[in-house]
Amino acid sequence: MRVTAKEKSWKEISPAGVCWKASTQFLTGDWKTYKPVRDLEKCTRCLLCVLFCPDGAIHWKPEKGDIEFDYNFCKGCGICANECPAKAIEMKLE
Ligand code: SF4
Ligand code: SF4
Repeated sequence: MRVTAKEKSWKEISPAGVCWKASTQFLTGDWKTYKPVRDLEKCTRCLLCVLFCPDGAIHWKPEKGDIEFDYNFCKGCGICANECPAKAIEMKLE
């Protein structure tokens, strides 16, 4: 869902303010400076990155037999890259 001009974005929430919508309605992926990029050849589909991502921004897609990053919510923390046993994720400057 896109935030329209009439609605406040997350940038307008005052410190310690109460959010008036579900967090899934704010596309907070623009916080990130670095973006995780996966090497499809190295990835073993072990799904550890799915478990470790603190934002739930990596999804298992059973129909594809593969994972997908949701850059609308990824914060670029790099935890997935750090935890990947195959070193298949590289953090790249956006
Ligand atoms: S942790 Fe690494 S090897 Fe495992 S699914 Fe994620 S990217 Fe692929
Ligand atoms: S960089 Fe952080 S927020 Fe983004 S997918 Fe990896 S673990 Fe999740």
